[in-house]
Amino acid sequence: MKTLFGVLLLGGAFLPAQDASKLAADPTVKAALDAAKRNEAHFIDEQARFCEIAAPPFQEETRGKEFVRLFNGLGLKDVRMDKAGNVIGVRPGAAPHPNLVFAAHLDTVFPPETNVKVTREGTVMKGPGIGDDCRGLAVMLGVIQALNDAKVQTPGTITFVADTGEEGLGDLRGTKNLFADSLKGQIDKFISVDGTGLSIANVGVGSYRYRVTFKGPGGHSFGAFGMVNPIQAMGRAIAKIDAFEVPKEPKTTFNVGRVGGGTSVNAIPFEAWMEVDMRSSDKTSLEALHAKFKTAVQEAVEEENKRWGRGSITASPDLVGLRPAGSTSADSAIVITAIAVTKIFGGAGRLGEGSTDSNVPMNLGIPAITIGGGGQGKDAHALTESFDTKDSYLGTQRALLLAVSLAR
Ligand SMILES: [Zn+2]
Repeated sequence: MKTLFGVLLLGGAFLPAQDASKLAADPTVKAALDAAKRNEAHFIDEQARFCEIAAPPFQEETRGKEFVRLFNGLGLKDVRMDKAGNVIGVRPGAAPHPNLVFAAHLDTVFPPETNVKVTREGTVMKGPGIGDDCRGLAVMLGVIQALNDAKVQTPGTITFVADTGEEGLGDLRGTKNLFADSLKGQIDKFISVDGTGLSIANVGVGSYRYRVTFKGPGGHSFGAFGMVNPIQAMGRAIAKIDAFEVPKEPKTTFNVGRVGGGTSVNAIPFEAWMEVDMRSSDKTSLEALHAKFKTAVQEAVEEENKRWGRGSITASPDLVGLRPAGSTSADSAIVITAIAVTKIFGGAGRLGEGSTDSNVPMNLGIPAITIGGGGQGKDAHALTESFDTKDSYLGTQRALLLAVSLAR
């Protein structure tokens, strides 16, 4: 294997932007970039093929097993499926660290009965999940193959992960498990390829989602008048939530999205429930909002009990979703490198926000970004989802150069 140490040691001071263009000109890296372009048609075919293996929320296993096979076929080491269903494979570098994790997610938002057939017309492929995130998975395979073809040896190690539970109530369970268990303490940097285009996201919008159930004895609206009322208690809580003041910057939001309860207009209800969503890209603001929400529910119950004094209300807030918030500083090496690399392939290098697997490392203070996989996606999360493969090789090349730049 050829080594990149010569390039690594150039300069001395850390100048990621310069490093990226120098690396792009390195003959070994150039050969890998050429391989990525040459192999693109094959991996587009692969993208269509494995996207027809359904991967509904919490049911990623069949597609996962296919990735165990693919990772082994590409010569990755220590290929395994962890207890969260993540498929992990290692491409060792000259040293075990830095260890760059390169991830894309297996799961889709689509239920098991969805027709996952992929159709192609010209450069456009259509099918549920074809962009989000079959594209990310295809880019990952293309990067591994190109590194192999050009016999690139990186100074640090790259660990490839096809992960689970990125979407919705999957609640990032795959990535959470990577950091808490299967790769605990071993991840130095993290790239997630999610979606399409040449985007870069360095901010992870976090969220808390709750379903709160209010309970009381219930009774006749006339006969039992004077009894505590769970819907009215919930109304008090909603009024308090509505009055929350939150920062505009970093954008912090709340929403009572669904309510229910009661049995009849002339009955004091015995139960009411509401679902509440709270979000922020800022950890501190999100935690502050979360604390206010809990206090509001508690105070609403106390006030309702005090108001009537007959019977007693209880409220149980059940956490139904938690995505940790975080961000990777715009002047961090990983972000500066990502911008420089993206510009080499004609991207604008603008920074954006997301709510993706990178939220987990961002929250832990581990350098992380989420990038698009090139091409052009439309209608993500809809049955009409499509992916235009025109010049999509640029996405693979960008991911490859970024991986090589960061695995050092
Ligand atoms: Zn996605």
